[in-house]
Amino acid sequence: MRGNLFIVSAPSGAGKSSLVNAVLALEPSIALSISFTSRGPRPGERHAQHYHFISKQEFEAMIGAGDFFEYALVHGDYKGTARQSVEPQLAAGKDVLLEIDWQGARQVRSKIPEAISVFILPPSRPALEERMRKRGQDSEDVIAQRFSAAHEEMSHLHEFDYLLVNEDFDQAVVEMRSIFIASRLRQQQQQQRHRDLIAGLLSAG
Ligand code: GDP
Ligand code: ADP
Ligand code: 5GP
Repeated sequence: MRGNLFIVSAPSGAGKSSLVNAVLALEPSIALSISFTSRGPRPGERHAQHYHFISKQEFEAMIGAGDFFEYALVHGDYKGTARQSVEPQLAAGKDVLLEIDWQGARQVRSKIPEAISVFILPPSRPALEERMRKRGQDSEDVIAQRFSAAHEEMSHLHEFDYLLVNEDFDQAVVEMRSIFIASRLRQQQQQQRHRDLIAGLLSAG
């Protein structure tokens, strides 16, 4: 049985990484895909933990080799999910989570229509700006650029299966976890998982 593919998108600063980390600590069976990027690491970001940091040339060579499951230019940098980070895991029945932008989400849906997508919204515009600043890892220029990009990103919220407002963090964790748990309980998957049980329960006598 194939694993579930979860897509999580949000404007930068909405709390995507914080939420995903908190939920994956509670759901350790979901594999987080580590993206490749041509942007440089922020202070504290580690190679192969936050991203696989590679040069633009290396990224373009991977595009040429057909190594990407999806990729896009996001805020002027390449971001992409390697096929190796997704296809073997799904084939082995493992659930995989992608933290990607709306452009990547589109590409994934066209390949895997059953993918389950979640879009995270900030509780307000001022809150979004404050969170970008609070993180304190980007220059003012980069923050201004991302704040205007947030509007464009949010204009794609209609393309997602679920919308989640990250106001109270703990509440948002419960909601995101509920989406993942409910997805695993869908009829067809449960029938396959519990084939013997169901056959036994429905057998005559
Ligand atoms: P709309 O904004 O929903 O009307 O979507 P459009 O079809 O007009 O696309 C908006 C932008 O996103 C355009 O620049 C498209 O080229 C780009 N775009 C659309 N689909 C994809 C995709 O799957 N991958 C990437 N990388 N870009 C896409
Ligand atoms: P993203 O991955 O979407 O860019 P982060 O997870 O890095 O966002 O979160 C951006 C900032 O907002 C971080 O400083 C984080 O601690 C903070 N944050 C996340 N969720 C909340 C919340 N519900 N309330 C207040 N601050 C939050
Ligand atoms: P950041 O630079 O803040 O880590 O991420 C900025 C944006 O890049 C976010 O919108 C995030 O979803 C997107 N992103 C991160 N990894 C990938 C990826 O592998 N593919 C795509 N398409 N977008 C990504």
